[in-house]
Amino acid sequence: MGHVYDDQNIFAKILRGEIPNATVLETEHALAFRDIHPQAPTHVLVIPKGPYVCFDHFAQEASDAEIVDYVRAVGEVCRMEGVAEDGWRLIANAGMNGVQEVPHLHVHVLAGRNLGRMLSKG
Ligand code: AMP
Repeated sequence: MGHVYDDQNIFAKILRGEIPNATVLETEHALAFRDIHPQAPTHVLVIPKGPYVCFDHFAQEASDAEIVDYVRAVGEVCRMEGVAEDGWRLIANAGMNGVQEVPHLHVHVLAGRNLGRMLSKG
């Protein structure tokens, strides 16, 4: 089955300007903004502007221009936040087992403290 995008998800509403966000960076095809419940001193979400549910959906259906812009935006956020040197973590949750809450592709850029081991059990 293909990916079905729900345009009522909260990030779609952010992209339409229906709810506010703390923007860090906006590019032609991407928007980066602060997570409303930060789990580290730096916690920025980077989303494509297009209607993609998850990373796999984006990888399959986005144009080369969207993919290039999105990947470069993630790097730009790290440089803007000043975390490239001390280190950071990029997380993309997908689907049920990945415990993805918002069905619009987003990567979490986390930094500013030692983030511990990658996964906790349970
Ligand atoms: P995930 O579990 O990967 O789908 O993560 C969704 C993330 O979106 C969580 O870290 C939430 O804190 C964050 N979030 C939910 N609503 C908003 C919002 N309105 N503005 C910013 N971040 C949000």
